[in-house]
Amino acid sequence: MRRTLIAGNWKMNGDLVTNLALLQAVRAGAQAHSAELVVCVPAPYLAQTQAALEGSSVAWGAQDMSAHEAGAYTGEVAGRMLKDFACRYVILGHSERRSMHGESSADVAKKTKQALAHGLTPIVCVGETLAEREAGSTAHIVQEQLQPVLSEVHDQLKQIVIAYEPVWAIGTGKTATPEMAQEVHALIRQQLAAADSAAANVVRILYGGSMKPDNAVDLLAMPDIDGGLIGGAALKAADFLAIAQASQPE
Ligand code: PEP
Repeated sequence: MRRTLIAGNWKMNGDLVTNLALLQAVRAGAQAHSAELVVCVPAPYLAQTQAALEGSSVAWGAQDMSAHEAGAYTGEVAGRMLKDFACRYVILGHSERRSMHGESSADVAKKTKQALAHGLTPIVCVGETLAEREAGSTAHIVQEQLQPVLSEVHDQLKQIVIAYEPVWAIGTGKTATPEMAQEVHALIRQQLAAADSAAANVVRILYGGSMKPDNAVDLLAMPDIDGGLIGGAALKAADFLAIAQASQPE
């Protein structure tokens, strides 16, 4: 049985005042849910997040990290630094990092290895653009993005989380239908099974892309959708908690 994971990606939003209110509200509402809750905040707010959530059932993490251990990498944040703030998770290969920062799937694979070396759980993002979907290449693109990660961390596949995020659905209000998402999630699980059949049963595959309280029930009911990576709706505690609620059996 895979425990549902609802992870918030705050992106580059927030400040000390609004963060505190959001963190306190998520913490207060979290006990009511059986899903695992995680907030991935901007790096400068990790200390604040740790202070606000320590001792609660809500985990926290970052939105990216360096593939390197330490050294002359101006602006980068190392995995061991994230551990200093008791991060449990790190989002890797988000489409905004792939498209705006030129991250390749090989880079994402190296970061995944580095995250695991530091005891962080990587949430590895994959997903096709609208043009790729319309060209019928969704399966090929997603598999090509994931393969370097599967090869790089072959022995530790059970410890990763994967997020399928169709790029055309991120922040657009357009959501993949539950059936469209399920089809890709099932393909990802098959690809995992080919690499490590035991891992395929335990690795959680999240859906991301305009997930909201009103579409979460149907998406989370799909057999291979094990949770959500939530952008915009993670900035409102009520919406984030309502998505967690949507994953609970009646
Ligand atoms: C995301 O950026 O990971 C995301 C899913 O964003 P949104 O929920 O706003 O589409």
